[in-house]
Amino acid sequence: MVSAVPDTIEAQVRRCLEQVPDPEIPVLSVVDLGIVRHIDVDAAGVVEVGLSPTYSGCPATALIRAQVATALRDGGWGDARIVEVLSPAWTTNWITAEGRRKLLAYGIAPPSAGPVACPQCGSLDTRVLSEFGSTPCKALFRCAHCLEPFDHFKCL
Ligand SMILES: [Zn+2]
Repeated sequence: MVSAVPDTIEAQVRRCLEQVPDPEIPVLSVVDLGIVRHIDVDAAGVVEVGLSPTYSGCPATALIRAQVATALRDGGWGDARIVEVLSPAWTTNWITAEGRRKLLAYGIAPPSAGPVACPQCGSLDTRVLSEFGSTPCKALFRCAHCLEPFDHFKCL
């Protein structure tokens, strides 16, 4: 007999973490960012979440960890362990497709290896105004076509 896929603890924890925003870009959850590396449940039912730090030295890292711990506790997993996964290092390439869509809708150009496209009009005729935008993890650009300034999530 095939029944519906059971709602696993892993899936429940993932949904819980999807509610934890990135402090720098609140439209993105930690799941969208791609920093949740694993969600495991051991034989005793204790949840372990592997988190990667984002940009090295980014002050948001400690805050993210605290917010994840709070979300897990509120979700009923007060004994959950959070482990730091340093290798391989997180890069912006790990931002999910859903995360990139949200960034664009928020007016932030998602990370790209090539020319940075304007999130307003799509023009590739863009210029760096400042290597540091509203936070150290973003650069400030201006579109030469529609003249709108915008943040670009820097590719690390
Ligand atoms: Zn533009």
